[in-house]
Amino acid sequence: MENTSTAESADIVVIGAGLSGIGAAKYLTDDFPGKKILLLEGRHAVGGTWDLFTYPGIRSDDSVHTYGYKFKPWLHKEAIADGAYIRDYMVETVTEFGLDKILRLGHRVTAADWSSETAQWTLHVTVSDEEGNETRKTIRTGFVFSGTGYYNHDEGYEPHFEGREDFRGDILHPQHWPEDYDHSGKRVVIIGSGATAVTMLPAMLTGEGAAEHVTMLQRTPSYVASMPRVDTIAQLLMKVLGVRLGYAATRFKNIWRDHFIVTVLVRFPSLGRRLLRSMTAKELPPGFDVDTHFAPPYSPWDQRLCATPDGDFFQAIREHDADVVTDQIERFTPDGILLKSGRMLEADVIVTATGLVMQMLGGIKPTVDGSPVDVADTVLYHGALMSGVPNWAMMLGFTKATWTLRIRNVTRLVADVIREMDRKGYDTVVPEAPEGMPTQSLFDLSAGYMQRAQAQLPRQGAGKPWRMHTTYVRDNRLFRGRLIHPDLRFSKRAVEAPHLVSVEAAS
Ligand SMILES: Cc1cc2nc3c(=O)[nH]c(=O)nc-3n(C[C@H](O)[C@H](O)[C@H](O)COP(=O)(O)OP(=O)(O)OC[C@H]3O[C@@H](n4cnc5c(N)ncnc54)[C@H](O)[C@@H]3O)c2cc1C
Repeated sequence: MENTSTAESADIVVIGAGLSGIGAAKYLTDDFPGKKILLLEGRHAVGGTWDLFTYPGIRSDDSVHTYGYKFKPWLHKEAIADGAYIRDYMVETVTEFGLDKILRLGHRVTAADWSSETAQWTLHVTVSDEEGNETRKTIRTGFVFSGTGYYNHDEGYEPHFEGREDFRGDILHPQHWPEDYDHSGKRVVIIGSGATAVTMLPAMLTGEGAAEHVTMLQRTPSYVASMPRVDTIAQLLMKVLGVRLGYAATRFKNIWRDHFIVTVLVRFPSLGRRLLRSMTAKELPPGFDVDTHFAPPYSPWDQRLCATPDGDFFQAIREHDADVVTDQIERFTPDGILLKSGRMLEADVIVTATGLVMQMLGGIKPTVDGSPVDVADTVLYHGALMSGVPNWAMMLGFTKATWTLRIRNVTRLVADVIREMDRKGYDTVVPEAPEGMPTQSLFDLSAGYMQRAQAQLPRQGAGKPWRMHTTYVRDNRLFRGRLIHPDLRFSKRAVEAPHLVSVEAAS
């Protein structure tokens, strides 16, 4: 993988080599074999989320048959898959489809400036090697696709806890898990009730190096639902129909199964609550206080549902030294956590599974002809192109379906836009939202990180082409037919720009 300090140019630059960027790079290189495309990744590894997070038990929350790419069958038996398997799958995708030739690791984009005069983005890139040596370079490009995810990779969300510095044990955040951390025989308190806490609790209690006791301390309960770790129908379909057809059939089945479940739970919240409560109660020992610990005050899918493969979370409560405490933190003490109820939780390790810090565009603050772009002031065309921002697409996935399912539609939009420009000799496209168009927030989840991030997020309109749905089945309908609409303003620059595909001297 090349890692030079010379400046470069490219027709299209994809930023981020996580699920989004790798998927986008594959589709765009297929769509435009004659164009120069670069895939820039700030870290020294591909995989994004799946390379960054290494806490015990890290795994998908969804079936990987739909979380994986349509073009690359998922071959492991497990449908709820370990993070390392997902990362390996992405590394394989990069080599299998020749994306290593366009990948630049250690290339962090720090700024992006658009010039209408040249109809180009100038990306300011910090290039680092694994020893931490840094150089700077610029990359000029006609089109940017940002696959930078939705959260800050450098810091997790850490609320203030009174007395934090008094605690004598270790305080760990899942986003910065120390390599080979030994929690064996320790008393662990995990603060949080999201997917991470639900994943870690059983993982820290099983296998070699098991903790002595794990408590999940939550302020508000979540819905937790058991899901088979292995999808036996998928196994059968792949055996009978062959890998490709069986994988396609499994994706079809899972897309509709998930859509059906989400629709029923959202349309009939009381029924959903009752169903989830009764499924949970069956998994727990008799007399367990299900209503205190597993009956959230919100409706199912107001926040993401937490999956527990083969009910491992409930099994840990039934059979191992695990418990759930629903209370509030008064303060940390030298020996653990004092709760508002007066109860004391003794601990050797406290895990703050308190969430993510949302961040748009990987922290890049673009400028257009010298004016800074505030992403929160933009409205997204098809949930991807920012109003008023030329030649830039961002990838945002679904909240009520797997993230990956959106990548093909977004890259198809980009491909249609670029083809339209090529065909008609344009070099600039700017989405312009109709004057006075009512807007609404992009996501309808009430999760803490979503609420904290509302002020940073772009918005959406009420109807096509300014609408984005949070499930694949509904959003997919908006991508049918022609995606070029009069709200996309195409133009040609007045002056000829230097040719893009060239290698320049270092700047
Ligand atoms: C623990 C965990 C489990 C999850 N499980 C699921 C699940 O089961 N199903 C689901 O649908 N979603 C899940 N998600 C959401 C998940 O983040 C997305 O599914 C998906 O991984 C997002 O991929 P991405 O490529 O858009 O972003 P990321 O995975 O965040 O990758 C972004 C990449 O861009 C790079 N980057 C960022 N900024 C820059 C920059 N300025 N310059 C260069 N490179 C940059 C980053 O280094 C990173 O490699 C999970 C999230 C977490 C944290």
